[in-house]
Amino acid sequence: AKESGRNRFQFFTPEMQHRLDARVTLEQGLMRALQRDEFVLHYQPQVNIRTGKVIGMEALLRWESPELGLVPPMEFIPVAEESNLIIAIGNWVMEKVCATMREWLNTGVPVVPVAINVAASQFSVQDLEKQVRDVLERYRIHPHLIELELTESLSMDNPEGTIELMYRLKDIGVAMSIDDFGTGYSNLSYLKRFPVDKLKIDKSFTSGLTRDPEDRSIVTAVIRLAHSLGLRAIAEGVETAGQLELLAREGCDELQGYFFSKPLPEAKAIQFLRDGVSM
Ligand code: C2E
Ligand code: CA
Ligand code: CA
Ligand code: CA
Repeated sequence: AKESGRNRFQFFTPEMQHRLDARVTLEQGLMRALQRDEFVLHYQPQVNIRTGKVIGMEALLRWESPELGLVPPMEFIPVAEESNLIIAIGNWVMEKVCATMREWLNTGVPVVPVAINVAASQFSVQDLEKQVRDVLERYRIHPHLIELELTESLSMDNPEGTIELMYRLKDIGVAMSIDDFGTGYSNLSYLKRFPVDKLKIDKSFTSGLTRDPEDRSIVTAVIRLAHSLGLRAIAEGVETAGQLELLAREGCDELQGYFFSKPLPEAKAIQFLRDGVSM
């Protein structure tokens, strides 16, 4: 504040320069990561609340950097989104999931559908439909084995285009869900028109479920909303038996969270599927 007079027109502070440098370094790191094949997918089981059976797995991205160690997605996805690298990374994820499933099918692993996170900017790319068709065909993966998790934020700038693309993806036969439901820009009039199968309750609501009456009200409302629109509800971030009990009482259909399993590296995911673990 003392130097504000002198610095008034100095928009580019050393602090900003530092942050920019860090971002450029991270971007370059991500580009190299793609070239050097440093990304890996972990898989987190999703469970049917009534049968206790594993009904799906969510593919979650990690970066195994030789310099930085295991980098969690929250540290690089936002940068990837801003720099458009998310398109190449998103394609890698799609490719990797299908290649992995083909391998599992070939080796007799009892596969379940795999959910893939799709960033908003990926969704606005016109050839997403072609991409999905192409990769499913190349690996001969049945579309029912793939689910796309879309965030609410994608409905914002071009809702008509979004809905159209959703219908074209629906035509392919892949399932779709709205991720982090309730945390973004909830436009319920669009929700009605989205050809999705599931609403995914964000873990911020699940975690407050047993102590915060407001979180509980929200969760109950989302489950009712899902059912009244003919959709299923899945809760993420389920960590305790107490949360599970409440979710069961409120009629939630599916669960995902540390209570059942953390996201698992591929070998462990295979083991989990082979053992047919249930709750
Ligand atoms: P998300 O899609 O909401 O995924 C759920 C996150 O919650 C994951 O974090 C998961 O590991 C974590 N989680 C699961 N169960 C529990 C639990 O019981 N307790 C707690 N505290 N956390 C739990 P992760 O793997 O670090 O991913 C963070 C976010 O990064 C994801 O949030 C998603 O938005 C993004 N992301 C991950 N993989 C991809 C990807 O392949 N593509 C894109 N575009 N985004 C991805
Ligand atoms: Ca997700
Ligand atoms: Ca998300
Ligand atoms: Ca979430």
